[in-house]
Amino acid sequence: MGQGLSCTGSHEYGLFFFGDDEHGLFTAAQFGDVKRLKAVLERDPRLVNQTTYDRHSVLHVAAANGQIEIVSMLLDRSVKPDVLNRRRQTPLMLAAMHGKISCVQKLIEAGANILMFDSTHGRTCLHYAAYYGHSDCLQAILSAARSSHVAASWGYARYVNIRDGKGATPLHLAARQRRPECVHVLLDNGALVCASTGGYGFPGSTPLHLAARGGSLDCIRELLAWGADRLQRDASGRIPYTVALKHKNGACSALLNPSSAEPLVWPSPLKFISELNAEAKALLEQALMEANREREKTILKGTAYSVPSPSHSDTGTDDNISEVSESELCCICFDQVCTIEVQDCGHQMCAQCTLALCCHNKPNPTKTSFNAPVCPFCRSNIAQLVVANVKTDNEMDSKLRRSKKSRNLSEGSSSFKGLPAMGTFGKLGGRGSGRVAGENEWVDDKP
Ligand SMILES: [Zn+2]
Ligand SMILES: [Zn+2]
Repeated sequence: MGQGLSCTGSHEYGLFFFGDDEHGLFTAAQFGDVKRLKAVLERDPRLVNQTTYDRHSVLHVAAANGQIEIVSMLLDRSVKPDVLNRRRQTPLMLAAMHGKISCVQKLIEAGANILMFDSTHGRTCLHYAAYYGHSDCLQAILSAARSSHVAASWGYARYVNIRDGKGATPLHLAARQRRPECVHVLLDNGALVCASTGGYGFPGSTPLHLAARGGSLDCIRELLAWGADRLQRDASGRIPYTVALKHKNGACSALLNPSSAEPLVWPSPLKFISELNAEAKALLEQALMEANREREKTILKGTAYSVPSPSHSDTGTDDNISEVSESELCCICFDQVCTIEVQDCGHQMCAQCTLALCCHNKPNPTKTSFNAPVCPFCRSNIAQLVVANVKTDNEMDSKLRRSKKSRNLSEGSSSFKGLPAMGTFGKLGGRGSGRVAGENEWVDDKP
C-alpha cells in the first residue's frame, strides 16, 4: 500500500510487522477486539482491504492468531477467504501453520480453496498443517478434501500426496519435522509411504530417509509399521540407516539397520482392514505397536539405546487384574482375552492373534498376488472384523486393560507362518462429491 508512509502507529507484534497501523485495524484483529474493529470499519468500510507491509490482510492477521470472532465477522462482510499476502499465502495456510483449528474450519466452511500454493516453497495448507504438526487441522483439511470438488477433479489420493516445489509430500514434511501424529493421520488417509521426493534439495528421499534425518523414533515406528522400505535408496545411494548414522540418531539407526528384525506391518491392503470401525481399529493398532515394541526391545538389547516406555506399558500392572474366565480367553494363544470377532462366522480371537493372521513381516514389493487370510477356525472368508460383543464402556475398558499383557509376535511364534507379502501402498481413499468448497479460485500452474 502506498499511502501512510508516516511511522505513526507502527507496531510489531510477534508474527507480523504491521507497519503503519494508524487506524488500529491490525492490532484489533490480532487481539480479537471486535468492538474496535467494527468501529473502525463503520467509519471507513474501505479499510477492510488495507494490508500490512507484507501484504497481510486483516483476515490473515486474525486467522493466524486464532481470532475466530474476527474471522467470522470479516467473512460475513464478504471478505474473500483466499486473499493472498506477499508470499501468496492464504489465511487458511496461516491458520494451519499456527494450529488455529476453529479458524481452519471456519475458512473452509466459507469456501477457502485448499488447493492453493504459496510462492516460497510451493506448499499447500496441507503441507503447512503437516510441517507444523497440527494433526487436528490436518484432519479438517483432509475431510474437506474428501467432500469437495478437489476429490472429484484431482482425486483424493492425489491430494493427500500433493507435492511442494521440491517434490515433498505432506508425509515427507511430517516425518522430517518429527510429527508422528501427522504421519499417522496421513498414512491412514492413503499417503504413499515409499514416495520419493525425486526433485532437488533432498533429492530422491523417502519419508523414512527424512525421519532418519529428523531422528524421531515414533515417526520411524509409524512408517515401518506401514511397510516403509528400509532398503530404498536416495539420490546419493544411501539407505535410511546410513542417514540416521550420519546424523547420529542411534536408536533410529538400530531400527533401520537392515540386518535387524523386520517389524510387523499393518495389513492395509486388506478389505476388512480398510473397513474396520474405529474401536476395532484402535485395538488392532495398539496390538501392533505393542508387538513391534517387543521386537524393538530385542533389537536394542545390548545397545546403548533404551526404548522409552509407552504410557500403557505392561510393567507390573497385571497383578490386580481379576481372573479371566476360561471362556473369554483366545482359543489360539490361551493368553489374551478375545476382543475381535470374525464376521460372518462369529468366531472370536484376541487382537494379537488377529494381527498375526493378517500381518506380514517382510514387505515384498515384487509380489503382486496376495491371498486374503481366512478365519483360522472354520476357514471361511472374513467379511469383516468387529469388536467382540462389548456391552458397556466399562467392559470395553477392562478388556483393553486385560489384553494389554504384551506378547511378542515375532516370526515363528504364531501359527500363521508363511503368509505371503502384500504391497506396501496404503488404501486409496474414495472419491467424494458434493459440496463445492471454493469456486473459481483454481491455481493450476503447479503439479
Ligand atoms: Zn490370541
Ligand atoms: Zn470362523
